This record gives sequence, C-alpha cells and structure tokens, in this order.
Amino acid sequence: MREVTLSSGETVEVECLSCAITNGWIEPEGGVVYETDYFHAHQDVAYPVRGLFIIASKRHIKSFDELTEKERIDYVNVLAKIRKTQRDTLGIEYVYYFYNEDTTHHFHTWMVPRYDWMYEFVRSIESVRPVLFHARNNMNHKENMEEVKDAIDLLKKELNK
Ligand SMILES: [Zn+2]
Repeated sequence: MREVTLSSGETVEVECLSCAITNGWIEPEGGVVYETDYFHAHQDVAYPVRGLFIIASKRHIKSFDELTEKERIDYVNVLAKIRKTQRDTLGIEYVYYFYNEDTTHHFHTWMVPRYDWMYEFVRSIESVRPVLFHARNNMNHKENMEEVKDAIDLLKKELNK
C-alpha cells in the first residue's frame, strides 16, 4: 500500500492508484472525462492544472508490449481524440506526453498542457516537475480549481457527444 495525495489535499492509501481510479474505488476530481472499453481518462488527481489528463488502461499492466492489438489501436485513438479536444475547446497549443513503465501504478500516460506561465520555470522537459509542484503547492485555490473543473466539464461534454 502506498499513500497518494489528491488535488484536494486529502491522502488515500491504495495498492495501485490506476486500478483504484479505473475501477471507480476513488472518484477523480471531476469524475471520468472519457472512457472506452480499454482506457479511462481523468484529470490528474494530484495536480490542479487545467486540461492535465491521465489516460490509464483498464487492465493492470505495466509495459507497452503488454497491450493487445485492440488496446494499442484504442490507445492511439483515445490520445488523438483528447488532444484534438484540448486544442479545440481549451485552446491548448502544446502538450507533453509522459509514460514510464517503472511506475508504482499501472499503465497510464500523462498529457501535460504547456501554458505560458510554465515558461518562467527552466526550459522544456526539465520544467515539468517544478511546474507540477508549483501547481500542487500554489494553485490549489478556489479560482484555479474552478477553472480546472470548468475545463473538465467542457472536455467531458465535447468528448462524449
Ligand atoms: Zn492497477
């Protein structure tokens, strides 16, 4: 079991956070953004950044080569669909994608939008950790949380048309 801090500041203990979320044992901030037979998309529960989504497989697997062919096709389609919707509804110009196999959770990809305020941190990919910690520590206020929730609602509506 490990302890996970949610964006609300609340902490929970789970075996695998991805399982907990995709199975509905933990309700992520704003709920399910989009879902297919194989994947599940939700706002990152730890960092209050508008349009920051996690796409998690529904199966408890760790590595890319464990995906079945159907899952691979679905994965790419889900990423592309969410990416297009981030652009069209939230005006997000760039996204960083992260996926690592040595995770304590299971297969999930972060889609981290790039905003102007993030350029004040160090360049490019090195800035991602500081940016996320900045969000967790300084953006957990009502106004930003409302923006995050509005973005979730907008995307949810658009993706599930
Ligand atoms: Zn899992």
